[in-house]
Amino acid sequence: MNKSYKLRIYPNDEQIELIEKTFGCTRFIYNYFLNQRIEVYKIEGKSTRYTEQQNQLPKLKKEFPWLKEIDSTSLQMTLRNLDRAFKNFFRDKNIGFPKFKSKKITKKSYTINYVNNNIQIKKNRIKLPKLKWVTAKVHRFVEGRIVSATISKSPTKKYFVSIITELDIEPMAEVDGKIGIDLGIKHFAIYSNGQKVENPKYLRKTLEELAKAQRKLSKKQKFSNNWYKAKKKVAKLHEKVKNQRQDFLHKLSKRIVDENQVIILEDLAVKNMIKNNKLSKDIADASWHKFYSYIEYKSKWYGRTVHKIDRWFPSSKTCSNCGYVMENMSLNIRKWDCPNCDTKNIDRDVNASMNILKQGLKELNIQIVA
Ligand SMILES: [Zn+2]
Repeated sequence: MNKSYKLRIYPNDEQIELIEKTFGCTRFIYNYFLNQRIEVYKIEGKSTRYTEQQNQLPKLKKEFPWLKEIDSTSLQMTLRNLDRAFKNFFRDKNIGFPKFKSKKITKKSYTINYVNNNIQIKKNRIKLPKLKWVTAKVHRFVEGRIVSATISKSPTKKYFVSIITELDIEPMAEVDGKIGIDLGIKHFAIYSNGQKVENPKYLRKTLEELAKAQRKLSKKQKFSNNWYKAKKKVAKLHEKVKNQRQDFLHKLSKRIVDENQVIILEDLAVKNMIKNNKLSKDIADASWHKFYSYIEYKSKWYGRTVHKIDRWFPSSKTCSNCGYVMENMSLNIRKWDCPNCDTKNIDRDVNASMNILKQGLKELNIQIVA
């Protein structure tokens, strides 16, 4: 299975020069060999294979020494692209005949192949052949083995790199675990088995710093120097929160998917978190959506079942022991006693996640064997 990641890069002047040179060289190669294919067909009536053209590259590099200045895999990848363009054309005549690449096209790109560790990703930088380390905005956790990288320039003159990775998806052995998960602010997740997962300390610390930085920002005079400074600080901390959160959510979702065959979640549309301030609400909200998407795609890979229960299900107000539904349950009640079955000290959150599990299994028609 493949995944792709598009990252913004900030090449320096020297690197820009080399990137631009590579755009030019790959365009030259593309057009040169497209022309050759057309000529060979005209004269010999046969189509040219990729390997025939690839074998000509060393000779061509001698003829045009400037081709040696750029990464050689980008030339091979250009020939592969050309080959694909022809294959697509022969497969489906609605796809037009391959066109020559004009100097004027606004979206330029070239692709390099991963060989011998020539592409590496570290925090805030990426190593690319010939370019060496380029400053990058690595905002996502890159999973899997790197296959290739495509360097591109947008019409607005921003540079990007798209990384393709490959993941081995080993089908996981089935497990017995079934879990209901409730999400919260104080605890990030509460499991139906009673376990409560807190946001990690490092993330909580950054969140505090962020709240502080935002308070400071709000006191500065708008558009003043100090205001810009404070704004930059806030943006930086937002970024840090995002990265830390991503890391935490990847690990957490992986563990849940490892240990459970059936995962029951609540529909996020119903979660009402009015009680908290806007910052923690926004951040929780973003985390929850990420968390769900991680759980969902990992479950798909590994053959787990994820189910979201109906949006109107009163998970907090229902006694998970007897099913009695309380009429009112304000948000500040953390523990309660069931008037029906006399269960004492019901933990609000654990009770909710137990209900989520029960309800989910019911909707999935899975029998619970106690
Ligand atoms: Zn009860």
